[in-house]
Amino acid sequence: MNIALIAHDKKKELMVQFCMAYCGILSKHQLCATGTTGKLVADATGLKIDRFLSGAQGGDQQIGARVAYNEIDMVIFLCDPMTTGHETDVHALQRLCDLHSVPIATNIATAEMLILGLDRGDLSWRDIVNPKRPARPRSY
Ligand code: PGA
Repeated sequence: MNIALIAHDKKKELMVQFCMAYCGILSKHQLCATGTTGKLVADATGLKIDRFLSGAQGGDQQIGARVAYNEIDMVIFLCDPMTTGHETDVHALQRLCDLHSVPIATNIATAEMLILGLDRGDLSWRDIVNPKRPARPRSY
């Protein structure tokens, strides 16, 4: 499965902890992330992560484009609800996930449910419904 990781600044440490805790599951899948999130997680876990631009430069929209092409199977977007200004970015990605029935977690509790469900095969239908290419960003 292709899994996209995004974390707002105040949630990046939580994302790193999450990926360390579930490194064994995540390592069985293809991972991509916005720039800074991807670097922090890769440095902490050694996981191979394809990195897009940083969120401020449009990285979450690059991920959104792949969701629009149905090339992403799960989005973990740890959002900071206490900082204003992020709402439109989150909403845009949520809308595309809703359009393509792609599970998206915006908090750690849902992220845990999704990752555990993924590991027991709850998302296997996506491989049948959407035979796909891996989500590979260009090199920047
Ligand atoms: P970043 O982007 O991982 O590059 O910080 C995420 C965001 O803040 O939207």
